[in-house]
Amino acid sequence: PLDAFAVADWLRAFAADVAANEALLTDLDRQIGDADHGANMNRGMRAVAALDPAEFPDARAFTKKAAMTLVSTVGGASGPLYGTLLLRLAAALPPDGPIDRDAWSVALRAAVDGVRQRGRAEPGDKTMVDALQPASEAFDAAQDDPWGAAARAADAGREATTPLVAHKGRASYLGERSAGHADPGATSAAMLIRAAAGTLS
Ligand code: ADP
Ligand code: MG
Ligand code: MG
Repeated sequence: PLDAFAVADWLRAFAADVAANEALLTDLDRQIGDADHGANMNRGMRAVAALDPAEFPDARAFTKKAAMTLVSTVGGASGPLYGTLLLRLAAALPPDGPIDRDAWSVALRAAVDGVRQRGRAEPGDKTMVDALQPASEAFDAAQDDPWGAAARAADAGREATTPLVAHKGRASYLGERSAGHADPGATSAAMLIRAAAGTLS
């Protein structure tokens, strides 16, 4: 199933990026959280990267399994949130036929909306939503290379979390002291979109 392999390629590229940047993600979380985001994500994405897409009938089934794997291995706030992201993405993928630009647009929007609902987070709350929401919007607005545009927007959104005061998650316990550091979840989410640009476009 070609599309299951495409999603697997994407998530494996993300897993490699997370592994290479585990210390960075953990250091960011040390500044405004509990210093486990790198370990959480690396544990989860290693498990996802070990899944064999050939064992699944289609991209939906593979992505759903990846979501469940994240929920059961990542822990913390980010586990259920990334799990929701992939579950909503899976449910929005076409059940058969190719995943074209329109299908990715719909799936990406559904995934981001799912994270916002699950976390009750709005853009500006200094969370992964600050990378994901602009990515989805840039994908839809792009003339060509939608994933490239999404990746640039996600990076800019991640950068823009630095001066923000956190309103959700552990970082919000710090109040004003959360300002001055980039959000770890926005940083990993920007890696997820960057990995999509490298594999899906
Ligand atoms: P924990 O905070 O439980 O240790 P992680 O360190 O793995 O979990 O993940 C922290 C990241 O999760 C934050 O940087 C933020 O991006 C994201 N996050 C936390 N709470 C929320 C929320 N309510 N909505 C969206 N994202 C959130
Ligand atoms: Mg943490
Ligand atoms: Mg934690």
